[in-house]
Amino acid sequence: MTAPITLTDLDGMGVSRLQGVGPKKLKGLEVLGISSLLDLLTHYPRRYIDRTREAQIASAGLGVEVLILGEVASVSARRTRNGKVMVVADIRDSTGTLRCTFFNQAWREHQLGGGQVGELAIFGKIEMFNGKRQMTNPVVDLVGTRTGKIVSVYPLSEKSGLSTWDVGDWVAQVLRRCADRGIADPVPANVLQSLGLMDRQSAFTGIHAPDSMAHMVSSRNRLVFDELLRLQLSLVQRQRDLERNSIGIVQEIGATSGPAPGLVRSFLEALPYSLTSAQQRAIAEINSDLARPIPMHRLLQGDVGSGKTVVAVTTLLTAVQGGHQGALMAPTEVLAEQHGTSVRALIGEMTIDAPDTLLGTRPLSVGLLTNRTRAAQRRAVLAGLADGTLDILIGTHALIQEGVQFHSLGVVVIDEQHRFGVEQRAALRSANADSTIPDVLVMTATPIPRTAAMTVYGDLDVTVLDELPPGRTPIETSWVAGQAEEEEAWELVRSQVSAGHQTYVVCPLIEESEKLEVASAQETLERLSANELSGLRLGLLHGRMASDDKQAVMDQFRAAELDVLIATTVIEVGVDVPNATVMVILDADRFGIAQLHQLRGRVGRGGARGFCVLVATSELTTDAQARLEAMVRTTDGFELAEVDLDLRGEGTVMGERQKGRNDLQLASLRRDRDWVEKARAVAIEIVGDGTGLEQHPLLGSELALVLDDEDREFLHKS
Ligand code: ADP
Ligand code: MG
Repeated sequence: MTAPITLTDLDGMGVSRLQGVGPKKLKGLEVLGISSLLDLLTHYPRRYIDRTREAQIASAGLGVEVLILGEVASVSARRTRNGKVMVVADIRDSTGTLRCTFFNQAWREHQLGGGQVGELAIFGKIEMFNGKRQMTNPVVDLVGTRTGKIVSVYPLSEKSGLSTWDVGDWVAQVLRRCADRGIADPVPANVLQSLGLMDRQSAFTGIHAPDSMAHMVSSRNRLVFDELLRLQLSLVQRQRDLERNSIGIVQEIGATSGPAPGLVRSFLEALPYSLTSAQQRAIAEINSDLARPIPMHRLLQGDVGSGKTVVAVTTLLTAVQGGHQGALMAPTEVLAEQHGTSVRALIGEMTIDAPDTLLGTRPLSVGLLTNRTRAAQRRAVLAGLADGTLDILIGTHALIQEGVQFHSLGVVVIDEQHRFGVEQRAALRSANADSTIPDVLVMTATPIPRTAAMTVYGDLDVTVLDELPPGRTPIETSWVAGQAEEEEAWELVRSQVSAGHQTYVVCPLIEESEKLEVASAQETLERLSANELSGLRLGLLHGRMASDDKQAVMDQFRAAELDVLIATTVIEVGVDVPNATVMVILDADRFGIAQLHQLRGRVGRGGARGFCVLVATSELTTDAQARLEAMVRTTDGFELAEVDLDLRGEGTVMGERQKGRNDLQLASLRRDRDWVEKARAVAIEIVGDGTGLEQHPLLGSELALVLDDEDREFLHKS
């Protein structure tokens, strides 16, 4: 008796061993990326034709989606007056004839006209046209001679030259051959039972050849769980490994001696406001990480304006009070310089002990390092960093360039971490010569839903700042469409400016070309200064400007020497000018929710009421309208993130690479939210203190199989 077949076994068997796979079919499978039996088994159907829902041509309802099963009676192609190809096929069942019209699908003539087509499944809405029942551009699947209540339809590319029944037959062959030995199930039986999941072999059978749609769904659930479990196991394992294997720094939380006793306490006491309870909670969570010898690896998620900066500075100062240094890295120069200004303002005139100086103390020193930093300044910063007299370094990716050597880096804060590349984020972790790992706090103002965070940030501990500082007046948001309504926006701008406030105008996003984007911003400036906003002081800010010019414009705006700042999305991240009260976003329907939310967060930062006007084109898609309506309905970033996930799916939270390659074939972070949580709980249970997977060798080998090293690396550095 041989052991059940594992995924690793299946991965080791080529498809050429299947009956009916000759050199030509092998090429076709290659086109689909299928080389092993495992590839084939995980090439899941794209659709199912459910015969139990079959409608009859003569009696099917009009205007609703129906499934018709029939045969081709005739096919013809012609050109329409504007030169398009139109293929007309008459489809017949036992009750009547349905005319199907296909526009711009010339290949249909060949597909349906072959004579040997057999049964067809047609899916779409029937309309009456010239007294005849017809469908336009329906979904068509060739059923051929397939029987059974449910017929699986496989994703194929035309180039492969394969048919859906080729694939179906081979899959059936694999499942038949596996039947004797059975397919091994690495998930403990008690876990399956408590989650109500079937065994893996049944799931493979049920997803390829279900008895009913309900059977398909429960089979799918099992396989979705497997995918998510592997991902979570990998993330949780990584987290435990990091904890077990790296030497962290035990920070001085409540330092009463050392170079700067009580630094954090006096910083907090000197703040002009008291911390929100969310900020207090965040600092407590961070402190308990900092006090451990295990390196912190924590994400601080907080909506725009939730007060992340104070939390970050507290964390940096904790390192300083224990005799270490802190680094704060921001994605843009504008933001880094702004952080420099606000951190210096927050820290004020603090001093730290320096026994070997004349006075016995020296001022706490904050340095700034970007690509704009002049050579002499840069030399001074680097010298201070190396000898430990520079306490806090703020900057852009210039912080991780050659030649930047810290004396003892204790804490790293990375702002807007998603804007950094994988390597850039990892670099600061290995900044210390003695190979101690600094504590790392990454921050993001882009809220993502909880279950998505579990996947994208699965190896980070997460702290959420879910409360805004008091006294904020919520921003009033409206959206307008078309020229006439747009005038309302400019009226608002003029009246706010005459009340002494300032305004941002964000210009259309042109993804294809920054050059075009800049041109459109310039045009907008000219138009507005000549017409709607003539007489006001307008400034322009865009990504192609030299850094000095950018900085000069921002300084002018901050000093209220400009009334209106016309900008491209360069202002999206972190800009803080409390006197600005209006945000006008042009072509707002072309922005995603996350971006609109970030942009809106630029206003309403002072005591005065904030406004956001979303100017859209009059021809809105339903999705665009849903986005704008959500923006009007709520200012809660997490609620918006949920809407976004519903509207757009994974793309919003998973990076391009994560979307493209990895084990998530079936699982969707949107549809399968519940399974993400369940899989995470099971993964935490199995990994235990970090050695738990050793008891589950089969699971361990599957991890190695489906996530290659590069994938794992990518996931883990995110
Ligand atoms: P973000 O999370 O977007 O980075 P900031 O740290 O820039 O937010 O804080 C936004 C504004 O709120 C700043 O002007 C800051 O001074 C102020 N702020 C932060 N915490 C509090 C608080 N507890 N009470 C009152 N104002 C606060
Ligand atoms: Mg911030």
